[in-house]
Amino acid sequence: MDQIEKRIIEIIDTHADELQAMAEDIFHHAEQGYHEYRTADIAAKYLKKLGLEPKTGLAITGLRASVGNGQGPNVALIGELDGLACPDHPAANKGYAHSCGHYAQMVCMLGAALALTDPEVAAALDGTATFYAVPAEEFQAASVREEVRREHDVHCGGGKCELLRRGDMDDIDMAVTTHSLMVDREGGADLMLGNSSCTGFIGKTVIMHGKAAHAAAAPHEGANALNAACLGMSALGMIRETFREKDCIRVHPYIREGGQAINVVPSEVIVDMMVRANTQKVIEEVSEKVDRCFQGGALAIGCTCEIQNAQGYMPCPEILPNTLMEETAALLGEGLNVKSIPAGVCNTASTDVGDLCSVMPVMNFTFGGSTGALHSVDYAVTDPVVAHIVPAKMMALLAYRLLKDGAKGAKEYIAGYKPAMTKKEYKAYCERMSG
Ligand SMILES: [Zn+2]
Repeated sequence: MDQIEKRIIEIIDTHADELQAMAEDIFHHAEQGYHEYRTADIAAKYLKKLGLEPKTGLAITGLRASVGNGQGPNVALIGELDGLACPDHPAANKGYAHSCGHYAQMVCMLGAALALTDPEVAAALDGTATFYAVPAEEFQAASVREEVRREHDVHCGGGKCELLRRGDMDDIDMAVTTHSLMVDREGGADLMLGNSSCTGFIGKTVIMHGKAAHAAAAPHEGANALNAACLGMSALGMIRETFREKDCIRVHPYIREGGQAINVVPSEVIVDMMVRANTQKVIEEVSEKVDRCFQGGALAIGCTCEIQNAQGYMPCPEILPNTLMEETAALLGEGLNVKSIPAGVCNTASTDVGDLCSVMPVMNFTFGGSTGALHSVDYAVTDPVVAHIVPAKMMALLAYRLLKDGAKGAKEYIAGYKPAMTKKEYKAYCERMSG
């Protein structure tokens, strides 16, 4: 361990109480994606206190600030701002809770900023570290997507996709991301290095158009859109036998609007869903099957079916840890239970980190210190040091190790990566998918 690494650990330890208080505060004030004004404000104030000048209002609530020599490589250190709808969670705030642990990423990113802005540490960076608070990792419901598009010209359901679309990451060469443990959550790891592959998806909205009529006096004059939608969902259930395990397919609909009145044949029913799989090709194939199910339901009942597909997230590749990451984790002490991701495991959930991976190299680690399933009422912090302080040290040390000695670590990592598309091609993809 060199002097700067010692200093990074020391700074974060000295400010542990302050970081824990911030964790507690953000955890109890979860906010909806693209509406994380309070959390963004906390982050902006903290970065200003460290002497940085954050650029705010990126994709509504996002922000960024940089430290280092102002040149490349530029490494993004990412924290996600949003909570998710989980009204029964004990720490829920107006229906939203941090039951995916994103609040801890904010503490991690801000803790890393605290250490890396120390003059002695900053002077040792042969490149730039850019701290990001990113809105809306959770894919937003169609109604929210419509609202933010109308009011803020936000086109994408996920914050990282939107930042990429707007060019707010054009100068970034690679990213470091983190998350509460995603696979093997109860396996006892304090840190899990690498990133399991994740599914990608498209958002799909089915609008079933029928004909209203008196539900009791004249149902024969109507065309029941709810029946057509239900028939579509039955067909979807039957077609599941064609889904192969290896493709990690998930299709999960819910009815946003089920009719207009109790005594009227439903004339319009809206079903929202996500269609997920581990490759873009399979997502498209399954999407067509799902369309057939609902078109068939419409045909049988005499309704018409309107289908809207929205840009979702791209599948995320498996990223195994490299030596630099393993050596960095080893600096954190022997008492820590550090594991690598189990190879070949697909996390059937999705993240917009998949989109980041399509245009730049990403280094990811996940952290323990919590129990209960993600997105569930059981999500709870069991070890605040492992959940909040260890990840902050890990992120700061990773950034330093990537950028020290002529940024050798970052340059090697970037050189070893082939992007699936350029940032310009990604923007064109957004244009195609989301207009
Ligand atoms: Zn999450």
